[in-house]
Amino acid sequence: MLRSDYCGTLTEGDEGRLVSVCGWVASRREHGQHLAFVDLRDHTGIIQCVVDGAQDLRPEYVLRITGPVRRRKAGTANSALATGDVELGDCEVEVLSVAEPPPFPIGDRVEADETVRLRHRYLDLRRDRMQRNLRLRARVNSALRRSMEAQGFVEIETPMLIASTPEGARDFVVPSRLHPGSFYALPQSPQLFKQLCMVGGFDRYYQVARCLRDEDLRADRQFEFLQLDVEASFVDQEDVLGFITVAVAAATEEATGTAPAPFGRMTWAEASERYGTDKPDVRFGMELVDLTPVFSETGFNAFKAPAVKGIRVPGGGDTTRNRLDALTDKAKQFGAKGLVWMRVGPDRVLDSPVARFVSADEQASLAATLAADPGDLLLIVADERPKVNHVLGLLRLELGRPPVNDGGFNFLWVTEFPLFEGLGDDGRPIPAHHPFTMPHPDDVHLLESDPLAVRSQAYDLVLNGWELGSGSVRIHRRDVQERVLGLLGIGPEEAQARFGFLLDAFRYGAPPHAGFAFGIDRLVALLAGEENIREVIAFPKTQSGADPLTRAPQPLDPLQLAELGIRVLPPKA
Ligand code: ASP
Repeated sequence: MLRSDYCGTLTEGDEGRLVSVCGWVASRREHGQHLAFVDLRDHTGIIQCVVDGAQDLRPEYVLRITGPVRRRKAGTANSALATGDVELGDCEVEVLSVAEPPPFPIGDRVEADETVRLRHRYLDLRRDRMQRNLRLRARVNSALRRSMEAQGFVEIETPMLIASTPEGARDFVVPSRLHPGSFYALPQSPQLFKQLCMVGGFDRYYQVARCLRDEDLRADRQFEFLQLDVEASFVDQEDVLGFITVAVAAATEEATGTAPAPFGRMTWAEASERYGTDKPDVRFGMELVDLTPVFSETGFNAFKAPAVKGIRVPGGGDTTRNRLDALTDKAKQFGAKGLVWMRVGPDRVLDSPVARFVSADEQASLAATLAADPGDLLLIVADERPKVNHVLGLLRLELGRPPVNDGGFNFLWVTEFPLFEGLGDDGRPIPAHHPFTMPHPDDVHLLESDPLAVRSQAYDLVLNGWELGSGSVRIHRRDVQERVLGLLGIGPEEAQARFGFLLDAFRYGAPPHAGFAFGIDRLVALLAGEENIREVIAFPKTQSGADPLTRAPQPLDPLQLAELGIRVLPPKA
């Protein structure tokens, strides 16, 4: 080993020891005529070393420095550094590598442009923030694995080159050289394989699985992501929630040092009504309040709608007219016909351009129902109920959402999702989760007659308003599976062609089973207090799906294309 110690670990207790440290030059300062201070950095921190001033030691040179640990002169200690009381004196310096000036300073205090950071990610990784985040990620991964193993789960790897998995996203595809014209899909998830593992008698499967989905990238979404993927047999929904709660709580405790508060529970219907979303951020109030009864007899046309609901913004009464206009525009972008705002004045008198259309009784009842106080702002939307919930849910976030790392970690299970999230253009229901989700036992009879009313045995885990993951009790009977596929417009022949292997497996004794998967990138980002999952991924893609470092994606060599039997069309105009 070239080093005896890490830079950031040396303290007064080491005084007098002759040590060797290795790392990068963080900075250099001249000290008198013949001496210089070099701050040497490794991932544990920085140590000040007194070196011969004649030596050419520039930022990011890689050095091995050997010298005795000594106390710094009185008055020169640096309380900002863990090693600030000591330094290495009379150092012998070995240059292990020279370095060109880096394109951005390696320090957390300086913001660098993201493309430049990603282009030189290896330098960015030297910074404290990335060191902290990736080490946290490793600890979270390891805690998850330990917890799953302790609960009797067995890690099984499933293939990357597969036939398409129906998670509802676009596939990444890989051309087959041996079967020209045929393609593999990269897994959107190990869904079907983990179900096959259940048929195969592995009653508790897990995998830290890489999944790929060709969807537009966002702050919380990359093409490829890591998922803790879980499936178990002879269990029900409560068992699965239990397994995952234990694992996620263990990871959170590993990351933060404290166990999270007990996970909340809410049905999908309640989440939609109270928060206008299936992933409520329950760190703050401003819940959606039903005002439909208040306006059941109203003469105000804008409120003659199937549903009228409102939110109260505490102390929002001083919101400027400009901001209110901007909020109204937002509401319209979100799909509302309009937004009614009211400022609550002294004695709860409502001030609003539409106040004169709302009767005194209605105003009093409105203020009481929303528990309005003088100085508050009330926002009201009237429309079909789902639209009202959606719009107010987004306005609530816009107005009240705290920063990611505020208010602790509020885990919430959302249960009883509908089986279908709506009808597609072809009039067919669209699965809310995926087509292998078991309908709620009380609603199976509605499958054909009223599919949108069918609840499912699907559940999500939400953290501070981010969807961490989803799971469900699965259909394990071939007849029910065929019925659901039929509703989706996937007839017996197509079903056989696409999922025949699963349906066939179900002929040979499929245990009842259920599972879950959640995004490790998202969990780690939230635990690290990061708004963007790119900050917890070593080599992420930019928003446009490119990697500025390796320059992926790239055109293929014509020979490679020929071998694959592929001809590339000119780009669309
Ligand atoms: N396969 C699902 C997903 O990736 C999770 C599950 O149902 O287990 O979202």
